[in-house]
Formats: sequence, structure tokens, C-alpha cells
Amino acid sequence: MTNHDHPTSHPVNAINTSPAVTPALIEVALPVPLDQSFSYLPGSLDLGQLRIGARIKVPFGSRQMLGMITDLPTQLPETDYPLKQALELIDSKPVIDHRLMKLASWMSDYYLEPLGEVLSAMLPGLGETDLWRADGQDAQNYWLLNPGAQAPDQRHHRLHEAYQALLTSGFLSDAERLNLGISLATLRSLESKAVVKCTQSPPALGDLDPPISEAKLPTKIGKTVVAGSEPMNPAQTAAFEAISSACGYQTFLLFGVTGSGKTRVYIELIRQTLAAGRQALVLLPEINLTPQTSDRFKLALPEADIQMVHSRMTPKQRAQSFARCLVGTAQLVLGTRSAVFAPLARLGLIIIDESHDGSYKQQNGVRYEAQSVAMMRATQFDCPVVLGTATPSVDTLKLIDDDKITRLDLPDRAGLSRPPKISLLDIRGQFCPGGISQIATQQIQQTLKDGHQALVFLNRRGFAQVLLCLSCGWQAHCRRCEVALTLHRDPASTLHCHHCGWHERPPLKCPECRSTNLSSQGVGTQQLEDHLRRELPGFPVIRIDSDSTRKKHSFGELLDQIHSGEPLVMIGTQMLAKGHHFDHLALVVVLGSDQSLFSSDFRAAERSAQLITQVAGRAGRTQLAGQVTIQTLKPDHPLLTTLTTKGYEPLIQQLKAERAELALPPYAYSALVVAKGSVLQDVLITLSQVKNLLVQNTQNTDASFSFWGPTPSPVPRKNGRYSGFLWVLSRSRPALHEHLKRIKPKLASLNKRVHLIIDVDPNGFD
Ligand code: ADP
Ligand code: ZN
Ligand code: ZN
Repeated sequence: MTNHDHPTSHPVNAINTSPAVTPALIEVALPVPLDQSFSYLPGSLDLGQLRIGARIKVPFGSRQMLGMITDLPTQLPETDYPLKQALELIDSKPVIDHRLMKLASWMSDYYLEPLGEVLSAMLPGLGETDLWRADGQDAQNYWLLNPGAQAPDQRHHRLHEAYQALLTSGFLSDAERLNLGISLATLRSLESKAVVKCTQSPPALGDLDPPISEAKLPTKIGKTVVAGSEPMNPAQTAAFEAISSACGYQTFLLFGVTGSGKTRVYIELIRQTLAAGRQALVLLPEINLTPQTSDRFKLALPEADIQMVHSRMTPKQRAQSFARCLVGTAQLVLGTRSAVFAPLARLGLIIIDESHDGSYKQQNGVRYEAQSVAMMRATQFDCPVVLGTATPSVDTLKLIDDDKITRLDLPDRAGLSRPPKISLLDIRGQFCPGGISQIATQQIQQTLKDGHQALVFLNRRGFAQVLLCLSCGWQAHCRRCEVALTLHRDPASTLHCHHCGWHERPPLKCPECRSTNLSSQGVGTQQLEDHLRRELPGFPVIRIDSDSTRKKHSFGELLDQIHSGEPLVMIGTQMLAKGHHFDHLALVVVLGSDQSLFSSDFRAAERSAQLITQVAGRAGRTQLAGQVTIQTLKPDHPLLTTLTTKGYEPLIQQLKAERAELALPPYAYSALVVAKGSVLQDVLITLSQVKNLLVQNTQNTDASFSFWGPTPSPVPRKNGRYSGFLWVLSRSRPALHEHLKRIKPKLASLNKRVHLIIDVDPNGFD
């Protein structure tokens, strides 16, 4: 989430995708860090074939590059340098439409990034000739299952595989079947058995056998997933009606605790959108971690052509999903941040689930914020945007105050589940082996004896946070980064850097004083796991963090075991805080919450409150009464007491008031200038120069500017490169934008060895 007024649209020339008059010149956006488009002569290319939005191969320096045609001027410019000739037209049809082109140019302006870079961030695999082929798409074959077709015998491996692929995707185009390695012969063989039929145009929805039926879904999804059998409750109905009766663009916040039935409302809205012949886009944080959520949409909308777009897919796979959007068959796109660019032409609804989640902000390349982009897209299609969360951000609440977002509440849990009871557990002066107190351990024991499950949340993976020498104070640090190394014990004893991936064997003696008096401190999930295994013999202890789930299927297997319902303890990092439904979970213990309260980031308190509330929301999802225990050394901390006695909303309103008082975002607009280089001094000097440029520029304006920094980044050295930042705040967004834009061309020449990045609406300081 970011602070923004509704993003202001900067008009770009109306784009006409087919040239009325003969073009004399081709303007091309290239993915290079230069703020301009490049002009080429058409040379031997067929002028009638050129289209804005199509890709073209051009010479660039000594290389050849793929770029996108952004304009086709009919007059030659007066230049004093010779123009080069374009080499090859890749697509005979635009691969993006005028709306996406317009969105790209808005982003280029808003995020101060070259258009070519924005386009390549938007479209996965844009630089690969074979992907994104929009032409020929209507000339290929489409393969679909015959209604009621029998599955081929398991022994006919190839046939069975092809059948399975068709079951999941409904139909396959030739291009898609090639990518899956399914041969033409295989499909012809299925055709001769009347299992599939072949058509020359993308099938209409009515032609599709429901690709996934309830019976085919794994049973582990359980009964709570089936939405739609019960009528919506009054709050759900009111929210549904408010959104579905919106005239044109409008953004809504669906504010409902975990389990209040938001997903149910999404599904009804999607049904309505699809019935009206329009398409829906649902953004989710880290989709691969929450297969349940996407399964639910598939189950509730069995007839829909659902396309997935997420980070575990290769650019090729993502391009394929996007191609389904291009040909117009996709009805629902489910994806992470980058799915906001799915080239849908009949978009009628955008949903952003868990809208407070940090993953909606892109942190490298073009640093866009998916919510802002989604709002912009929705204005293009004049359709509603729904933000759903139990923990809205300060930024969202400010937009509600400003009447830019309409708030809708789902105040109670839907169905039978009760809100969990949250209490603080004061552990001052208590011995906590393995990081957990005696009382919390006993609570877990009781829960297991009662036949239920417990979750212990600790957002620190590894065995211990630091390895230090008790004789001289030495600490194991990464050679490449300015951070302590984390001690891991699984599988072997190693020291890991969580920033650059460096790892080494732990020393047996202190490298400084040769003492063997080395000690590890700061309990991580692996140590907690060892401890709980000893304390809770006979019960499974399942650790879920990015180490334990690295192997491809391990996360799914662990989830299967949890969903089996046997009494067990899960230990999880933030991976487990999001979107999971655990039917048998009766107790949540939160450890290490104090640490997050003391971060330098002004959003730290807000993030901790969100995380704690989200984890707490995992308990008591069904009839089980949930209990949440927050173990703390700061039982009087106002954040914790407000959260536990009054709840999330009073707390976040209080945090919002503090921001207003201190004129921090969203009560100021801000951008971060990040500098990276091999010498810290250079980095900081360059940032001072940036600051001077801005100060000189802003002196004559009345919009008050303020600065924080230059100062080293929270992790000042990563992978051998130093970084620092300058935080620029202003009361006026246009003024901030204008001044950054004005100084931007001067940045490259400040110091060639320092790389500068501008992050508009930053989410943190790195
Ligand atoms: P959220 O998305 O807000 O976490 P869900 O949509 O997952 O909430 O709903 C939580 C649980 O309540 C689910 O098991 C769902 O099937 C059930 N549920 C949702 N709406 C209703 C309803 N109107 N009546 C009964 N149960 C419902
Ligand atoms: Zn020592
Ligand atoms: Zn490192």
C-alpha cells in the first residue's frame, strides 16, 4: 500500500493502433535505462503491417534488440545524425492494446522510469520472439474435452497426461500443447476415441466441460471451502449490493475480520461480472503459498476459464496465461502483483485480497505499487476495485477519510466460528528455553491432549540469530553484507546470510581470541522445533518456513498433514500468517513480537499490528473456540495493550492520528532516492548532491519540502555494495513529482560509480 491521491492521469496522445497514413518513422521503446524512445526508418519493412503495440527488432549500439512500437509519425524529424533502419517486425498484431499502452506511459511518468523498462516489467518474456505472438493465434487448433468423456486408461501414459492437462485448463491451443510437450499424435488419438474435439477458433464458454468439478478436487480442501451453499448474511448482502450497484469506477474497502466471508462476496461479484460478459482480475499475495484460496475460486466457478499468474511460473508460462487473455477467452485472472498487467480487454472487476500486504509493492526494477496501478486500470475500464482485508493500512483509511474509497464492513465471522480470545503473557523474569515459556508450553500440551492443533508463530528462521564469543564479544558477520550471520542446524551446522545467500561452516574457536567459548543467541524456528519435540513427545512438530519448504512439493505435503486434522504443533514464520484456513487449530502462540516493535521504520508498528492480527486470525476458524497467546517482555506496550483490549481498528486509528500529527505519509507524499556503490562515502556524497539539486529547485516554490538523510540504508552493505538513501517528503504530490522529474536527467552524471534509483511512494527504506 502506498499513500496516494488517486493517481493523477497524465494525458498521453490518443493512440491509434492502425496507421491511417503511411508512417515515415518508427518510434520504438527499448528496455534500456534511457528516458527516451528511439527513432528508426522502416527500411524494407512492409509499411501496411506496422502497428503501435507490436514488437520490432532494431539495431542498438552494436547489438540487436526487441522493442515495442510506440508511435508511427508520418513526418521525418530534422536530425543531424543519420537514422538507422529497423530490422524485423515480430508481430503483425499489437501484443498490447491502447489501454495498456496508455497505462505504461502513465506508469513511466508517475514512477519516473523509461517507457521501455515499464513495458518489459509489464509483459513477461517480452524480449523473447516466440512468446507473445498474437498473430496466428486464430489460425491454430484448439483442443477441448468432449462433455462426459471417459478418462483414458492410466496405462496409456501419454494419453492420460494430455487428458489431465485438458481437465485443468479446459482446452489447449496448439502453442500451449507444444509447451506442455503434448504431441499432435496424442491428441489425434484422443480425438479418434471421442475424448477430445478439435476446433479452429477459441472455444466459447458453453463448449467447455466444467474443467474442474468438486469430485476431482482433493478432499483435503475440506468442507469450509465450499462457498455458496448458504445464503449470504445481511452484511455480505449489503456489501455485495453496494459494489454491484456502483456506477463505473469506484474503489471499495471490504473490511472484515478473517473468516467474515469476504471471499464469498468476491465470488458472488465475479459470478455477476462473468455473467455480464466481462472479466475479473483477482490479486492475491504469494498465490503459491495459499493454494487453498485459488482452489476455492476454481471450485466456485467451475465453468470459468481461470488463468493463473504468479512468481513461480516461468516468463514463458506467464506469457501463456497472458496470451489467453489476449485471445479473449480468459474470464478470471488469479495472480500476484504482476497479474495487474494481464491484457484483458473486457475487464469488469478488480479485487485485491489482503490489500495491506507488502508484496503488492515491487521492490526492484520499476518500483510500482499494484494497488495504484489497479486503480488506474479500473478507471480505464470504468469498473469497481475491491480491497479486502482484516487489517487495512493507514494509507487506505486516509483515502476513506478523503472520500476516495468507500468503506464496507463485515463485522462478524460468517457461519459458526467465533472470534479468538487474545491475551498477553508476561514473561519478564521467566526462563524460556527454546524461546517459549513454561505457561505457553503447557497451553500447547493441553490443546494437543484435547485433540486439537496449535500454531507457534516466530518470524525468525534458522537456529539462532547470532553466534558470538563470550570471551571477547566477537560476532559472526557476513563478509559481503553488514549483517550478522544466522546459525542453521538443518541439515548441517552452517552460518547463513539471509541477504546474499553466503554460507560457511561455523568456527570451532573464536577467530579473534581463539576462545572456544562460543554461544548462539536469539532463538530461531529450528531451535524452537528441537525444543518442542523434546517437550511434546508423541506429537508431530511441523516447521513451516522457507527452509523447510524449499523442495518443490514439501509445502503441499506439510499442509496435507495439517489438514488431516491429527493433533500437532506447527511452527511457522510469516509464511503461515497469510490466507490459510486451519480447521483444527485451537491455539496460536505468538513469540518474538517485541522485536518488531522497535524498528526504525515509521511503519513498523502498523506492520506488527497487522501481522499479529493476521496470525491470531488463523485460530478458531471453525466451531473451535480459538485462543491466542502473545508472549511478551513488554506487557505494558501501548501497541500490545490497545490491540488486545480494544482491537485492530482503534489501534490503527491511533497510528493514523500520529502520522497526521508528524506529517508523515500518507499525510505527506514521498519518494526515496536510493544510491548504491562500492564506496559508502561516494554513496552519501552523491545523495547530498541530489539533495542540493532538490533544495535549489524547490526554494522558489511554496510547497514545503522536507528531507531525511542522506543516511546509510537499514542494511548498509549487501553483497559487497553499499547503499544509502535520501527520503524526500512534500505536502504536494504535483510539486514532488515535478521536482523529481526536473532533477532526474541530471542524476546519471553526478557520479558514474554510484547507481541512483528513485522509488515513488516507497514502502520502506531499502
Ligand atoms: P474470509 O475470506 O473473510 O476469510 P471466508 O469467505 O473464507 O472469509 O469465510 C469464512 C468461512 O465462513 C468459510 O468457511 C465460508 O465457507 C463460511 N461462510 C462464508 N459466508 C457464509 C455464509 N453466508 N453462511 C455460512 N457460512 C459462510
Ligand atoms: Zn573471542
Ligand atoms: Zn551476505
